[in-house]
Amino acid sequence: MPNVSAYAATSETSALAPMAIDRRDPRPNDVAIDIEYCGVCHSDLHAARNDWGGTTYPIVPGHEIIGRVRTVGAEVTGFKPGDRVGVGCMVDSCKSCAPCDQGLEQYCENGMTGTYDKVLPDGSVTYGGYSRHIVVREDFVLRIPEGMDPAAAAPLLCAGITTYSPLRHWKVGPGQKVGIVGLGGLGHMGVKIAAAMGAEVTLFTTSPGKADDARRLGASRVVMSKDRAQMKAVRGEFDFILNTVAAPHKLDPYLNALTLEGTMVMVGLPDEPHPSPGMAPLIMKRRSLAGSLIGGIAETQEMLDFCAEHGIASDIEMIAMADINTAYERMLKSDVKYRFVIDMATLA
Ligand code: NAP
Ligand code: ZN
Repeated sequence: MPNVSAYAATSETSALAPMAIDRRDPRPNDVAIDIEYCGVCHSDLHAARNDWGGTTYPIVPGHEIIGRVRTVGAEVTGFKPGDRVGVGCMVDSCKSCAPCDQGLEQYCENGMTGTYDKVLPDGSVTYGGYSRHIVVREDFVLRIPEGMDPAAAAPLLCAGITTYSPLRHWKVGPGQKVGIVGLGGLGHMGVKIAAAMGAEVTLFTTSPGKADDARRLGASRVVMSKDRAQMKAVRGEFDFILNTVAAPHKLDPYLNALTLEGTMVMVGLPDEPHPSPGMAPLIMKRRSLAGSLIGGIAETQEMLDFCAEHGIASDIEMIAMADINTAYERMLKSDVKYRFVIDMATLA
């Protein structure tokens, strides 16, 4: 499919602007999708601005994709034209290594194919959801449950699964005290999902103005993370903390907030490293510091079904495609309530 409308950055300092891209013709196991909505993840901004190094330009970001199936390849059995579907952060993996066999495609030993900015063996580069169409291998297409608001479902494809997966893996549930650090795209999904799993949720935030929203979303308590007295008052309380912050910060105050054998999982990927944590907070209480990357495809479907069952979706601010550069600036100021979603119909 030639001449597909998209928005791209052509260098780390250039604003995103319209660009025409080519999509491959659907292979027998592919699904061709007309994109309706695409969420705006902080990773899109990191990648567009080369925060992590290694971005290939031009880059078309976007990995929270919702749309309708336009056509399917001859071997596709799970989808038909008109179905409402989603695509997240991955569009392929080897499907034969040990992690892939366990449904952990995100940790594929041969390197999963990111939805955007992945250079393929033939030299082409994957382009993401800031565009009108995409063609994806059937195995990496998600089913959007009936009745879910499609725009509010878009952020589930990254922010939802990135928080759901560690909460499940570390078995968060009733009777546990859970801290979520940062109320942005990931953090607000973390609050909703942890509360739906039955945990008692506390939000750690740098933004006093977000306290009321945090309670509305499911937190029973809000701690101002820059207030030393408040951080000291919660020492030793939390079984589990999920840290979603997109900027470097001191980890020790959070490690000290964990119980004996508590765990803090990092999902934020800032451009600069965090100051190294002290070893004493870990050693003296046998605590763990861990990380987690999105989630596998089967688990992403499980998360979508869990969200449908619990009436959970993202709190979104809908924007037009042309507003993307302003949205990035607002995201850098932690000024999003709580995920921008692009209405793709605004892209000619
Ligand atoms: P976001 O919407 O911008 O939210 C980040 C939140 O972090 C902000 O709302 C803010 O919350 C807090 N924050 C930001 N700057 C801060 C600072 N200087 N000091 C303290 N707190 C600060 O970003 P997002 O889309 O949720 O993504 C968060 C991070 O996760 C990004 O680094 C992204 O690349 C990464 N990510 C990782 C994965 C994964 O698989 N591991 C997947 C997706 C995204 P408060 O206002 O409440 O303090
Ligand atoms: Zn993301």
